Amino acid sequence: MALNPLTNATLAARSRAAVWHPCTQMARLDAVPPLPMVRGDGPWLIDADGRRYFDATSAWWTNLFGHSDVGLQQAIARQAATLPHVMLAGCTHEPAIELAEGLRALTGGALGHAFFGSDGASATEIALKMSAHFWRNQGQPQKCEFIALAGGYHGETLGALSVTDVPIFRDAYAPLLRATHLAPALHEPGALAAIERLLAQLDGRCAALIVEPLIQGASGMRMHGPEVLRALRALCTQHGVHLIADEIAVGCGRTGTFFAWEHTLAPDEVEGSTTPPFGLRYRRPATSTDWPDFVLLSKGITGGTLPLSVVLTTDTVFNAFLSPDVARGFLHSHSYTGNAIVCAAACEVLRRFRETDLLQQLPRQAHALREAFAPLAQHPRVTALRQTGMVLAFDVTDSGERFAERFHLAARRHELLIRPIGATVYLMPPYLIDAPTAQWLAQAVRATLDEVLAGA
Ligand SMILES: *Cc1c(COP(=O)(O)O)cnc(C)c1O
Repeated sequence: MALNPLTNATLAARSRAAVWHPCTQMARLDAVPPLPMVRGDGPWLIDADGRRYFDATSAWWTNLFGHSDVGLQQAIARQAATLPHVMLAGCTHEPAIELAEGLRALTGGALGHAFFGSDGASATEIALKMSAHFWRNQGQPQKCEFIALAGGYHGETLGALSVTDVPIFRDAYAPLLRATHLAPALHEPGALAAIERLLAQLDGRCAALIVEPLIQGASGMRMHGPEVLRALRALCTQHGVHLIADEIAVGCGRTGTFFAWEHTLAPDEVEGSTTPPFGLRYRRPATSTDWPDFVLLSKGITGGTLPLSVVLTTDTVFNAFLSPDVARGFLHSHSYTGNAIVCAAACEVLRRFRETDLLQQLPRQAHALREAFAPLAQHPRVTALRQTGMVLAFDVTDSGERFAERFHLAARRHELLIRPIGATVYLMPPYLIDAPTAQWLAQAVRATLDEVLAGA
């Protein structure tokens, strides 16, 4: 009988030869062979050698309900069997309509128009184009510059990279990018005053400011509170500049509310609260002036199954594109815009938020993480242990060379799939955390950390 060739070693070797992996130095692939995953089971991934790993980063922050969610499987299979795809110019379909209506309802009607893209970066591109085109249609074509924040991440296509400030992703391509005005990140003291000065200085030239609400993800899970976002909204309104909230990572319940922005709409602190009816917060009426002009969703919107992004915007923006003139309409399209299978998956995600007690469960899950990881704050090499909803992070001091790689490799031996950002270790797990799971995670992270630090 032939040996089964589908082992970790054979698949990793074939992958190394043919697949160019993202965000990966391919020269390191012998030292860090990619794990050939063959199956998902809840938060667990199982590799070709039959070993399992807890997916502590939710398949690059996309997974919400685990890797084998039956509801999502059925929604996708049903749609694939009836109508997989039609063009969304000249045609429409129920999954796209239901998704747009569902998202509008979640904003209390404030963001009533949904434009579909394929991934996070394209959502950023769409919002930037829409904002500048809006001002052009308003007779202000000179309003076409953008403000981004230090350490912000909005994707890696050229337009999105222009408003991204993460040197490792940006430096090699800097000559290809559009100039953007950079303001301090919101967790920095004095950020608002600096942003206000920049807005005044750019008077009449700035189309939009783009921000990651509550958590700057890719630059290392830097967190700020909702107050500064409320102030930012007011500043942008005052200066006639669009506010783009990039909720690609923090939307879809990650911070405890469906949209992270909802934390700004009510005065009481939500984070870590275990008091129901926490989840009803999103039903609070809000006027459209309290919301950003654009909200971007992607990652979690299909529960980690299929690529989709959505740009939500207001009546004001939408109405400015209505005209007998085609060139005043919004001009952006891709072949799979509003793909029906993908929209059906997203509708199932929304249904889960609407019809189950998920939003009531999330604070309990966040609380379990908090309790389990609290002792780590006493670790002599751990600083800045922090958490917002279902994102927990800490920094490691004197972490040494290649810390992220060594931590990732050591974690594999503890059944943990985790990829630190530099010396920042973070967890962004699927919404399947109970107290014993959180305790197990904390123990696995601590054992990994001690092993890595002992070997350094
Ligand atoms: C991941 C991410 C993006 C880009 O999304 P892709 O689907 O990877 O292009 C944009 N903004 C934020 C905040 C993200 O976390």
